[in-house]
Amino acid sequence: MAPEPVISYVIIHELAHLREMNHTKKFWKLVAHHCPRWREQRKWLKDHQTEFAAKLLGACVSNTCAKAKEPAKTVSFRHDSDITHTDS
Ligand SMILES: [Zn+2]
Repeated sequence: MAPEPVISYVIIHELAHLREMNHTKKFWKLVAHHCPRWREQRKWLKDHQTEFAAKLLGACVSNTCAKAKEPAKTVSFRHDSDITHTDS
């Protein structure tokens, strides 16, 4: 499972979407207000996205595993924009 600060970031991120639908500067300012170290938490998600998504989906990340239904490269977060977004 993800570290507690990462889980908090995800919750704060999603709650912030109740006020700001898109990833605008206003949105990230709201996230930063409640989670000042949000960039570190987002980096953790990016660094662990394949492993973490695989656990969530119950998939196997090994391309050679008989249980793998799809190649590992197809396992990713639906909310990719969160991972790659760079805003200051
Ligand atoms: Zn978002």
